[in-house]
Amino acid sequence: MSDLTIRSVETRILDVPLIRPHKFATTTATAQAILLVSVTTESGVVGYGEGVTPGGPWWGGESAETMQVLVEKYLAPVAVGRRVDEIPAVLEAMEGVVARGRFAKAALEIAMFDAWARALDVPVRSLLGGAVRDSIECTWALGAMPLEEMVAEIDELMAADRHRTFKLKMGALEPAEDVARIAALAERLNGRAGLRVDINARWDRFTANVHLPALVEAGIELIEQPTPTEQVEVLAELNRSLPVQFMADESVQSPHDALEVARRDAAGVIAVKTTKLGGLTRGKETVAIARAAGIACHAATSLEGPIGTLASLHLACAEPGFNYGSELFGPLLLAETYVTTPIRYEEGRVHLPEGPGLGVQLDHDAVERFTRR
Ligand SMILES: [Mg+2]
Repeated sequence: MSDLTIRSVETRILDVPLIRPHKFATTTATAQAILLVSVTTESGVVGYGEGVTPGGPWWGGESAETMQVLVEKYLAPVAVGRRVDEIPAVLEAMEGVVARGRFAKAALEIAMFDAWARALDVPVRSLLGGAVRDSIECTWALGAMPLEEMVAEIDELMAADRHRTFKLKMGALEPAEDVARIAALAERLNGRAGLRVDINARWDRFTANVHLPALVEAGIELIEQPTPTEQVEVLAELNRSLPVQFMADESVQSPHDALEVARRDAAGVIAVKTTKLGGLTRGKETVAIARAAGIACHAATSLEGPIGTLASLHLACAEPGFNYGSELFGPLLLAETYVTTPIRYEEGRVHLPEGPGLGVQLDHDAVERFTRR
């Protein structure tokens, strides 16, 4: 029997180039910084997790650099000496030494799940209750580019049947200009593809009331987090007044936040990210609350690489509550990878791999090459 006691926790920051600059409301990323966390058991089994935030600390206050400090100095010491199959106990211990810091906690918790599953020679999804599906619909995010280029990219991806719905980032331009850009795209596509927008909490209540109706009119199928993180009541007001689906992302960073969204009827969909929530366990708890409230869940991304994406994919395929698809496209934005087998994206869906743990092996040469010195 494998000794599941954690012998060591190690971290390194990888800088992996992106296929193109990825524009957010307030920043543009050209490479993805990934904190790679490894957990090694006394029997020598190694599990991996990723600490990833979307383009730095602007989203939720954490970055690869802050996560490295939290893991090395505070989280690893309370995990070492415990067993990888004692996840709730380790999560409680982590709560005792770090408030919030959920992206960092997720990286370590996922590495524990990977090591535990590898030690048992089962996939991570088996530890989450087993698969209810072996793939999930996967939307694609378009970069900020001219209209004709957006139409060409959508047509190409639909012709290849890689994606069937598309997400557009908003919030970087003046609202009227931003809405006109999206409405023009919707008109050109004429219903051929589903369009969703993410405003990343950049609009105040007034701006949202003035400009959201035009997006609804244009046929946008889902509006993600238009208004500030803490203002759940404003999201609720919009959700009641406009005939469109709203998705809460920044406003749900814990199971309790999901409860608040449910109580206030603030959204029809919750963006569930293993990163922002603090890992697979908190992800499961969040989905349970959403399901009980009749809120759909979307398997969302912080632009994780292959390891973090697979963790979210195992959860999305083990929880029936993920009934609004996924945006687990992070690895497709990376110009190069650091695992030996790429994740399969086909027929508009992302597919679970076979094999123990998260289901991939690291390409150690690539890991060395991307490691920040
Ligand atoms: Mg979002």
